[in-house]
Amino acid sequence: MILTIDGPAGAGKSSVTRRLADRLGFQFLDTGSMYRAVTWAAMEAGVNFDVEAELVPLMESIEIQLRDDGVLVNGVDVTDRIRTRDVTLNVSSIADSVPIRERLVDLQRHLAAAGNYVCEGRDQGTIVFPDAFCKIYLTASPEQRARRRMEQLATTGQFVDYDQVLREQAIRDRQDETRPFGALTRAVDAVEVNTDHKSMTEVVDELEEIARSRLPADYER
Ligand code: C5P
Repeated sequence: MILTIDGPAGAGKSSVTRRLADRLGFQFLDTGSMYRAVTWAAMEAGVNFDVEAELVPLMESIEIQLRDDGVLVNGVDVTDRIRTRDVTLNVSSIADSVPIRERLVDLQRHLAAAGNYVCEGRDQGTIVFPDAFCKIYLTASPEQRARRRMEQLATTGQFVDYDQVLREQAIRDRQDETRPFGALTRAVDAVEVNTDHKSMTEVVDELEEIARSRLPADYER
């Protein structure tokens, strides 16, 4: 069974997804970390993001492994490296590439076929898992999202001005919302949850209630 959580950057998806998956006894799939892993690999290899003939062989040469506590690319632990501001500034360009998206969508479907998953990203309820039993669209005001992002960066020693975070977030939102394939949009059958002024526990409680109301009656945990 698949539950999807989509929404813009900074809506709180990652932390909420892990906790919800834990409560339901599901595994979780952070698909943003896959796009980040490819971006990191492309930056390392000096690949031109706009040249598909360079991107596709790169994609074929890397193996991405997702673990509960991190991400590996060809066996190298890149968990922290994929969260840097440089990767964040470049990831939307990589995510625009249709061949990259097609390969990652295949990989996401393959991974999630192995069990019960909460899958988090931008296109999970619309493109990757249109038959998910429950779809959530998690959102928050741009200001709240930028504050969260700034605090998150500070925990890793990256101190960026609030106005700059807000500006960069608006650019990434626009890019995520307007790409021709896999654009961020709310699935028509998704429940929208706004996380402004709610604690993490309140949001997870709300999502758990929505999920349980849709789970088969004989599902335990
Ligand atoms: O969720 P996160 O901020 O880590 O995602 C990084 C970027 O990866 C997003 O801004 C978006 O461009 C891309 N992405 C995507 N489709 C997904 C997940 C992430 O295009 N399913």
